[in-house]
Amino acid sequence: MIGNPLNGDPIEIARQAGKRLHHFPGGLRLRHNKKVSCELPIERAPLPPRLFVPLRLHGGREAEPVVDAGQRVLKGEPVGELRDDPGGCVHAPTSGTVSAITRHPVSHPSGLDGRCVVIKPDGLDRWTTLRPVNDWRTADPGALRAAIHRAGIVGLGGAVFPTSLKVEEASERGIHTLILNGAECEPYISCDEMLMREQPGSIVLGAQILQRAVGAERIVIAIEDQMGAVLEALRGAVREARAEHIDIVRVTTIYPEGGEKQLVQVLTGLEVPSGGRPTDLGLLCQNVATATAVAQAVTEGQPLVERVVTITGNGVRRPRNLLAAIGTPISSLIDQCGGYTDGAARLVLGGPMMGYALPSDANPVIKAANCILVLTAEEIRPRQPELPCIRCGECARVCPALLQPMHLDWTIRNGLWEEAVETGLDDCIECGCCDFVCPSHIPLVDWFRHGKSELRGRELERRRAATARQRYEARAARLARQQEERRRQREEKKRALGDDAARQERIAAAVERARRRRDGDR
Ligand code: SF4
Ligand code: SF4
Repeated sequence: MIGNPLNGDPIEIARQAGKRLHHFPGGLRLRHNKKVSCELPIERAPLPPRLFVPLRLHGGREAEPVVDAGQRVLKGEPVGELRDDPGGCVHAPTSGTVSAITRHPVSHPSGLDGRCVVIKPDGLDRWTTLRPVNDWRTADPGALRAAIHRAGIVGLGGAVFPTSLKVEEASERGIHTLILNGAECEPYISCDEMLMREQPGSIVLGAQILQRAVGAERIVIAIEDQMGAVLEALRGAVREARAEHIDIVRVTTIYPEGGEKQLVQVLTGLEVPSGGRPTDLGLLCQNVATATAVAQAVTEGQPLVERVVTITGNGVRRPRNLLAAIGTPISSLIDQCGGYTDGAARLVLGGPMMGYALPSDANPVIKAANCILVLTAEEIRPRQPELPCIRCGECARVCPALLQPMHLDWTIRNGLWEEAVETGLDDCIECGCCDFVCPSHIPLVDWFRHGKSELRGRELERRRAATARQRYEARAARLARQQEERRRQREEKKRALGDDAARQERIAAAVERARRRRDGDR
């Protein structure tokens, strides 16, 4: 039992499968479709002739390139930096030559191109000089956090929020429990499951390092109850690391259990406050793949330059998981999986619930790319004509965030932005459950994404206007100061001139008196 920072009540965290587990509202039971991509072990994807390393980072911001075309780079060298943003560093995924810095299709829901550093690999895959932390067990926690920062690690579950920011916040606010999220609930995606099966030691190591970096008292690794092989692998790794304080908890497989807030609710029975984070409850959530990246960053000094990607779906011949360098064109991964089947019709980045369609397989692998799903024409639900809402309430019943999606949809369509925020637009995790069940085929999530992007745009506009107002006011104040200064100088001059005239008069009077005296003496 650990104190809840919100109200002082104890938090009891489920320690074993089936015991003291809670539920989150709504959710859906979906077919997993994961087995097919778990049949083959993870394989390293060969380096393509060109890597297109995107400079776009979390939040849509672009790093500035710090290399020039023609320059030679080593694996792990920074090629782009966001100078004012921790964690905002892009590294070369292999050694080679920068052949260009150019716009290229990048994987993003907007479908817009982004700037990429194009690297021609030299085939040597030579690392730059790495700076591992000597002994993480005795290292200063600040040095561990600095190593995570240097490595440009982001949440590999798909959210790609900079890990260094989360870890800094957790260490400043103080947390008691680190939760490693291995509840990969979205159908088809199996990269975390395969990583937990094949590299459990690295995950346990990453968990221990994160624990030291943020000062957590305990660690919980959450996995789904259908991941039998994973449970054994993790238990073995925990035994080997003599880390018996790590609890492995199996949670019921229900979508979207892997959502950070939903997982916290299942493990603790507590709701993360609206607009808040798990740190408000003294918890830090990290994805299991992020933990392996942390282990590599600290013990080897390696930045995040590759990730495991699930290539799956009936549209690809040999579904499997590949370890791919960031920037590898998706077409290269598809080739590695035997190519497309005849019926391949759509590429999706992510899973069928939260993913988005890609216009082309020339798009490169990005840090958020947990899955490339190739759907056949038969699997694509044809877009049904949208019908009026019949107020059936199904969308609200399945919403894990306890929202009223039909009402939220109405506020956005009518431009009632304040009401949209008040009714919880920011709490929508875009899980797609409401969309999935709506009998009127209303594209609810599309509207919620549109609403969020509109609000972001308005916020940006508000900030710009505030900055412009501040600059105007500063200029007006400066002009007023200058005017006042000039007035003061004029006054002083006048006074000085006045003083001067009086002195001249006094001198003239004294001269006159002296002249009269002299004339009198004569
Ligand atoms: S997409 Fe948003 S509104 Fe719809 S069910 Fe998920 S959290 Fe609720
Ligand atoms: S599920 Fe669709 S039709 Fe039913 S209330 Fe929600 S938006 Fe309306």
